[in-house]
Amino acid sequence: MRILLAGPRGFCAGVNMAIDSLRLAIERFGTPVYVYHEIVHNRWVVERFVRQGVVFVDDLDQIPQGAHLLYSAHGVSPDVQRKAKQRELQVIDATCPLVTKVHTEARRYARAGHTVVLIGHRGHDEVVGVMGEAPEAIRLVESEADVDRLDVPDPDRLVYLTQTTLSVDEARRIIGRLKARFPNIVGPKTQDVCYATQNRQQAVKRLVAESDAALVVGSQNSSNSRRLAELCQAGGVATRLIDGPDDIDTAWFDGHETVLITAGASAPEDIVQDCVHLLQERFDAQVESHDLRTEEVRFLLPIELRRPSAAEQA
Ligand code: SF4
Repeated sequence: MRILLAGPRGFCAGVNMAIDSLRLAIERFGTPVYVYHEIVHNRWVVERFVRQGVVFVDDLDQIPQGAHLLYSAHGVSPDVQRKAKQRELQVIDATCPLVTKVHTEARRYARAGHTVVLIGHRGHDEVVGVMGEAPEAIRLVESEADVDRLDVPDPDRLVYLTQTTLSVDEARRIIGRLKARFPNIVGPKTQDVCYATQNRQQAVKRLVAESDAALVVGSQNSSNSRRLAELCQAGGVATRLIDGPDDIDTAWFDGHETVLITAGASAPEDIVQDCVHLLQERFDAQVESHDLRTEEVRFLLPIELRRPSAAEQA
């Protein structure tokens, strides 16, 4: 067996920042630290933090007044921010700056009287947060068919934005349909599908033609992991989206000689390596690393954590 290990894969700058923020918050403030929703959409990351005393909640009413609360990398709506303030929670905002950019654009265009067409997946934390910026002015579209059904007050005051973790090809198709139906629609200067999502998809596209099976390491609720799995399937290879090595059934690889392995932006590298080692042991697999490019993007910690603590200053 040959393993084609795609790069870039796994953690992106936003996920690294969110995880570092939560680690530092535990260190500084002790546990419990509360997090609104999953810090990132990955079972391992969440379980490891739960063992350290982090409490993940879906409702701020579950948090005692005045406790420390971290917003996940996917961001939150203004309603959640207001409620956190009312409850006097000590907020640490670990929203990925690339998600914050979409919030800012949505707010700005809505205030200027535009209707904002948001391309994204209904119910995803990021989409819920962005739509909360201006619910009356934002229309969600998930497909080209949704574009055909779209009803807007003024086709000349229309802007589109996208969720950061979409399929680049799917986003392009939907934007094409929007432009055909609404020629005066405007879009962001730079693509909202983030660099990490784009790079992971490009790396997979390069390798999929050489592969006959694919393992995508990531959780089922991870949007960018699902998009990677869809890309592999579209390339005609037998594809599994798995949380880790325990999910692997070696019978899957009967008759398959070249296995592409990649990982979504929230999947830890040690879990990817455990999957690789399992295939090496069972199939004597040879590993080839194929790195499309090196990523050097880094994000600063949230402002609330940039100052050294009193103990660190002493
Ligand atoms: S996938 Fe992109 S938008 Fe999401 S956290 Fe990572 S860098 Fe930020």
